[in-house]
This record gives sequence, structure tokens and C-alpha cells, in this order.
Amino acid sequence: MDRNEKLAEVLAEFAQNLNEGFRVQEILDHLVQKIVEMLPVTAAGVMVMGPNDDLHFVAASNDGIGEIETLQNELGEGPCLEAYRSGVPVAIPDIEHDERFPNFSRRAFEHGLAAVFTFPMVVEGQRFGALDLYRDQRGSLDPADMKSAQVLADVAAAYLHNAQERSNAADNLDLLRQRSLHDPLTGLPNRTLLKERLEQAVARGGRSNQLVAVLFVDLDRFKAVNDQFGHHIGDRVLVAVAGRLREVLRAGDTLARLSGDEFVIICESLDEPALAERVAERLGASLVPPFELEGRTLELTASVGLAFCGPGQELPESLLRDADFAMYQAKQAGGAQHQVIDHAARLVVDGRGRLARELRGAVDRGEFRLAYQPLVDVEDGGLVAVEALLRWQHPDRGLVMPDEILPIAEPTGLILAMGEWVLTQACHDLQHWQQQFGSAIPRVTVNVSPYQVMAPGFEATVKHVLETTGTDPASIFLEVTESAFLEDGPRAFAVLKQTRDLGVGLILDDFGTGYSSLNYLRLFPFDILKIDRVFMDDLDEDPSTRTIVAAIIDLAHGLQLSVVAEGIETQRQLAEVVELGADRAQGFYLCHPLLVDEMDQRVLAPAHGAPIRLPVPASR
Ligand code: C2E
Ligand code: CA
Ligand code: CA
Repeated sequence: MDRNEKLAEVLAEFAQNLNEGFRVQEILDHLVQKIVEMLPVTAAGVMVMGPNDDLHFVAASNDGIGEIETLQNELGEGPCLEAYRSGVPVAIPDIEHDERFPNFSRRAFEHGLAAVFTFPMVVEGQRFGALDLYRDQRGSLDPADMKSAQVLADVAAAYLHNAQERSNAADNLDLLRQRSLHDPLTGLPNRTLLKERLEQAVARGGRSNQLVAVLFVDLDRFKAVNDQFGHHIGDRVLVAVAGRLREVLRAGDTLARLSGDEFVIICESLDEPALAERVAERLGASLVPPFELEGRTLELTASVGLAFCGPGQELPESLLRDADFAMYQAKQAGGAQHQVIDHAARLVVDGRGRLARELRGAVDRGEFRLAYQPLVDVEDGGLVAVEALLRWQHPDRGLVMPDEILPIAEPTGLILAMGEWVLTQACHDLQHWQQQFGSAIPRVTVNVSPYQVMAPGFEATVKHVLETTGTDPASIFLEVTESAFLEDGPRAFAVLKQTRDLGVGLILDDFGTGYSSLNYLRLFPFDILKIDRVFMDDLDEDPSTRTIVAAIIDLAHGLQLSVVAEGIETQRQLAEVVELGADRAQGFYLCHPLLVDEMDQRVLAPAHGAPIRLPVPASR
């Protein structure tokens, strides 16, 4: 290998190291070894200085040289220091007769060195240190070698610069992480950090053969404090409560704030559950002295729920929820007390109560998402619209689907706020697409439940959302099912008629499985009919299913409705419905429901605004 090849090799190794991380010492060690192989020198050294001109790193091709490098720093003189300070290379071709650095040169000569050449490591005006080359014979380095050496010093400097930037970035990340793990109001760990701590505690508990207890603390009637005195006082109360709770705890315990007036405590190293109950009692007692805030006196109590994780147990997924449930029971029993989780009761009580409570705040906490599934024109594969489908990003359970949400949301009336959020968000997302991708997504369809339609003010809500978001009504379709007409057909008719008069489109969803289908179809001003996806399952096996689907499509066309076949999972099903005359299709085969980002990246962006084509047969 000639010198240039070796130089290229060293540079390539630098580049690779840059990508892999910043092990400064390793790369410097490597550098000095390579240099000795590459250039006509007997030894090489590098010194890297810190911010206060103190020696940070030293690398040397042999131990003796390492000493020489450090020595310069001790003496406060030497060619390397000089190159570092001046930013210019320093050459001493004859150490024995050197007079510039008498102290250094004498010692270097004693070490058997005859010549030294040093090169500053500078990048963007920032000095990092110097690269030093030593020879055991007098004489200059030829200019080409000098040049190679300076290139290497420059590259090393660039590398160090990069490492420094990265470590600054890492410090910033630490800061961000610190912020993202703590509640800004009280400075206590938040839910994320709580979970981390819980995992660690359970792991330690397993090793030490001791119990971990989770205490879920919820203030009683705290809402009244906010209502009566305002959020400003409410916030101060929470800070004061946090202070009192903290005083009760031992050093190793964790106190976290989950949300609002919910606090969670992890107690470790317990020999028996009774000890945690003792803590709960002390927590209750700590709140007894009235709170004095801005001239007001407040009395507070809390409900506390306890759950345990035994030694050797895996961290139960439900530990927090168990403690929450026990807290709820303490509250049901009148508050101002604690309860230990009663697993039997927990099993008896249907999980819905808890989910319903969590669902209540989900809109405000921003936990809902919308997934969108394309409706595709079977003639040309064009994207006709996307259907908005609700998703709940639950903090513990992950993604909760509508089938679990709606049975709670409807009877409790929560569906009204949720439904308004869905429509509003769908309008915003549509605007986003129009701005980013023009008319690639012309319409959004939004499901509305019969509860929404029958509640007072449905039409007014739709109107309000369209106006406040500035949405063209014609770009929104509402999907309703026949069950909307069950309770009070004429009223449902009137409400839907008014709503349609706003200019929105109406889709009759899940058609074919319901009740008096044909009559409603004739009477109601629908634009589109969706054939229920149950029909798709046995479309290609069962001739009677085919007959029904064919009849529905003919009927709909006779009434000037276009037909969507939903739930298409296979190429065969698609071919079937196309043959039977469906106008549009929707289903996993064409495209799964996607979050907005995914839709942007996977469906819209690749086409760069060109018409979207999904895998459908060209034409029937
Ligand atoms: P839907 O209106 O019939 O919506 C279509 C459902 O079928 C969606 O389930 C969708 O993910 C699923 N799906 C799509 N393609 C296929 C396929 O090829 N095969 C199968 N097996 N399924 C497919 P999802 O998202 O779980 O929604 C379930 C139901 O919840 C919806 O049924 C709709 O009635 C209701 N829903 C969803 N979002 C909302 C909403 O925002 N408000 C209201 N009121 N109801 C909603
Ligand atoms: Ca639907
Ligand atoms: Ca449907």
C-alpha cells in the first residue's frame, strides 16, 4: 500500500467511527498506530486539551511517548503545546541542539528522540490539541509527509468537533427527558417515570424477596375546590398536598402525580402488606391539618387504594389499575379511607365502570385518534373518500377499538362530546390534506351513532363544526345505520333531512342486516349505500348471498344511490362485487385504516398529488 492508500484507509476508518459513536480515546489510539505505519516516523502522540487548557486525552504509539506528551503539560513548554497555542505546525528536526524548548528538549533527548514535528488540530477556529510525530534520527520530514500529517490532524480535529456536538446534543436530550418525565406543576415524576420506577421496584423486590405496594391516592371532592376557588387555588392545593404526602414517605419511595388530583406512591422493601396500610393511614393523617392558602382555609381528605406485587411475581400489567380500583372502592365507601384491592370484587365488577371513568376525560386529555380507510372507485381505482374511524390511545391498554368504546360511550352520553370531536378532527384533517395534497382526498365520511342523531341539537352541532372549521359541507358524508330510525322514525327522518339540507352527504351504513330496510331506503334522502361486510365473507361460496348482494345493488341503483361494498379482504371478493355492480369498494385488501401520518406517507406522498391508484382490477 502506498502512502495515499493508507491515508485513504485511515480517513475511511474515521468516517466509520463518526457514524458509530464517539469513543474518543479508542479512535485516537488507533490513529497514532496508523500514523507510525504510514509515515517515516518512529512514534506518534496526540494530546487533546479541555476547555481550560487542561490535558483531556493523551494517545501515544508507545508508553514512553505518552510520558513525553504529559511532560510538556507539566513543564508548560514543548512543541506540541506550542502548536496547540499558536495554531501553526512546529518542526524541531534536531532535538539535541534545540534552544526553543530547552527543558522539554533535554528530557526528550534523554528518551532517545532526535526530531519532533507537531501539527495543530483546529476546526472552525476551535483548537482541540496537537498531533506529534517523533523520530529517532535527526532530519526534516519531506513536504508530502508534512502535508499528510496535517491532513490527519485536521480530520482528527473534525472528528473531535463532531463528538463534542453530539455530546452537547445528548445533554439537551437529557434535559428534555428530565422534563418529559416530570409533572410541571409539582415537579413530581409523571406517569411515564412512575411506570419505569415500578418496573425497577418490582425487579428489586424479586431479588430481595420483599413486597412492592402501590398506593393510589385521589383527593375527595377536589372538583369542588376548583369550582369554588378557581384553578389557581386548586393548583396551589395540589402542590401543598404533594408536599405533605412526600413528608410521610421514606427516602426510597416514589411519589408521582398521574393527573389532576391523582397521586401514586410506590413503597418498596416491605415485609408484609400491613406496613403499606400503615403508610396509607399516615397519608390520610397528613392531610388532616387544614390547608391555609391566600387567606382561605380548606379541609381535604383522600381515598387511597392499595395493590401489591409479591416477590418473584412478574410486574402485573394491572397493578396500577388494581390500586385505582381499590381507591374507587374506598371512594364508594364514603372516602377519607383506604382499601386494599379485593380481587374477587374486582372480578365481579365489570371492567366497564373503570373504563367509563377513564373515557370521561379522554377527549380532554387528547387520547383519541382517527384512523382513515379509503373508499375506492372500482372503475378507475381513484380515491373517492376516506372513512374516519375512532381509536382511543389508552395510556395503559394501548389502542382501544370502537367496539369497546361505543358500548360505554353511548348509554353514558359520552358519545356526544366524542362525536363532536370526531367531526371536528375529521374536518381539520381534511383541511390538512387539501393544503398538502390538493384534491387527492376529496371527502371524509364520519360515522354517527343513533344516540347522536336522536340527541337534541344534532343538526346544530354539525352546522357549528362545519362553520367553525370552515369546511365545505359537500366534502363531508355522515354514515348512519338503520338503527337510527328504530326509536322514533319520523323524528330521525326530520333530523337527518335538516342535516342533509346543510349540504352534507348521507350514507346508509351496514345495509342488509337490519330491519325494514327497503322502506327507509325509499323514503330517506341517502346518497350512498354501504353493503354490510358480513355479506363479503361467504360471497364466493354461498349462491344466496350473491343473490342478495346483487339485489341490493340493483335496488340501490334503481333509487339513484351509489353502492359501496365494505369489508373486502381478498382479490376474489373484489372481483365478485365489481361483477355484481358495486361502484366503490373498501376493505383491508385495498387499504387498512391508517393514521394521518401513515396516510400522508404511504398513500398520498408517494404519488406526489397524482391520482391515487390502489390495487383494483382495471374495469368490470
Ligand atoms: P363500520 O362503520 O362498519 O366501519 C368499518 C369497520 O370495519 C372498521 O372497524 C374497519 O376497521 C373494519 N374493516 C375495514 N375493512 C375491513 C375488512 O376488510 N375486514 C374486516 N373484517 N373489517 C374491516 P372499526 O374501526 O373497529 O370500527 C367498528 C365500528 O365502530 C364501525 O363500523 C362504526 O360503526 C363504529 N365507529 C367507528 N368510528 C366511529 C365514530 O367515530 N363514531 C361512531 N359513532 N361510530 C364509530
Ligand atoms: Ca361506517
Ligand atoms: Ca359499516
